[in-house]
Amino acid sequence: MTAKAAAMTSTGRVRSGNEDSFGYRSDHGIYLVCDGMGGAAGGEVASRMTVDTILRRMTEVEGEDFAGRRVRLHHAIAEANHVVLERADRDAGLSGMGTTLVALLLDSVEKPERALVAHAGDSRCYLFRRGKLTRVTQDHSLVDEQIRLGTMTEEEAERSPFRSVITRAIGTQPAVTEDAQEMAIEAGDRFLLCSDGLTREVDEETIARVLNAGPDLERAARALVNAANENGGRDNVTCVLIEVEAGTGRAS
Ligand code: CA
Repeated sequence: MTAKAAAMTSTGRVRSGNEDSFGYRSDHGIYLVCDGMGGAAGGEVASRMTVDTILRRMTEVEGEDFAGRRVRLHHAIAEANHVVLERADRDAGLSGMGTTLVALLLDSVEKPERALVAHAGDSRCYLFRRGKLTRVTQDHSLVDEQIRLGTMTEEEAERSPFRSVITRAIGTQPAVTEDAQEMAIEAGDRFLLCSDGLTREVDEETIARVLNAGPDLERAARALVNAANENGGRDNVTCVLIEVEAGTGRAS
């Protein structure tokens, strides 16, 4: 195994249930975080169904090439959208549920050289490379779009009553269009997939400091979740950390 992973989730200090879900299969190079929404048990159901659907599809064949697996992931996301919508349709108590998704797909388990990051909503992927933290994904949220348009500053967005409004999700529209981007991997790269319960409580400087603190991934995941809870823990918080081990990846 040449990529290792660790995950941690917490209900936080305010919410009564955890609507985040995560899942991964290092032996298939697929890693997922979902942040569910919707009344009653809806959020939890939507995020779990999405993780389960995508993991099932991504692990049902062996030896498929990266091009095939990229297409497979795209179809799995569409399928998750369909099953969540259909379930909400059948069960009035789950009506209106949906979930964000952020997914990392590695091109190879033995020798990862490329990664695909796909997302819908405001769960994020960060890349930590040679001591520097870079945000890979752009939130599909009302405030993030206004920041990009220049009609709102980061500070205004922080205080906006609309900061939770996301513009894309799984299970809320007949079709979902995920953003997908591919990148080259370097040995030692660390990827962080997380729900907004982390990024609203913990600034990027602190995230970088935690990721820089040592080689233990489990410990880093736990430290990130603890930091979110110490800063208020107002939402569920989930982190999945993936590290491409030294000695693999593209020589550069
Ligand atoms: Ca959340």
